[in-house]
Amino acid sequence: MTRQNFTPATKRAIRERAQGRCEVHLVPHCMYPALPETCNRPGAEVDHITPDVFAGGNDATNGAFLCVLCHKIKTYTDNREAKKSNRLQGKTGNAPKRKIPSRPFQARKTEWPRRPMDYNRREK
Ligand SMILES: [Zn+2]
Repeated sequence: MTRQNFTPATKRAIRERAQGRCEVHLVPHCMYPALPETCNRPGAEVDHITPDVFAGGNDATNGAFLCVLCHKIKTYTDNREAKKSNRLQGKTGNAPKRKIPSRPFQARKTEWPRRPMDYNRREK
């Protein structure tokens, strides 16, 4: 898996927007309940708000300048979620042994067997 990252220019733009402060308020609190809603510590790392494994983008709107502590908490949560996601997609060794069969949606036209001519005739 190639992990994408922000370009240096995007990182710089995010840092400038943050003015050196932790931007944890930009991270959706519902997804990261362990994070504080606001934080006034000096920022340290530019991080993805939506991790790229969940199709988050690499532009400044998906970036937040986080302090060491918030970054740590967020990375921990991301890793846990990514592992869960991988597990559900069967990408780890912990996947269920039995593959859950997917029901084909109109995979082929079903030709029902014709009724025999004496279908409605009762046996005596
Ligand atoms: Zn913080």
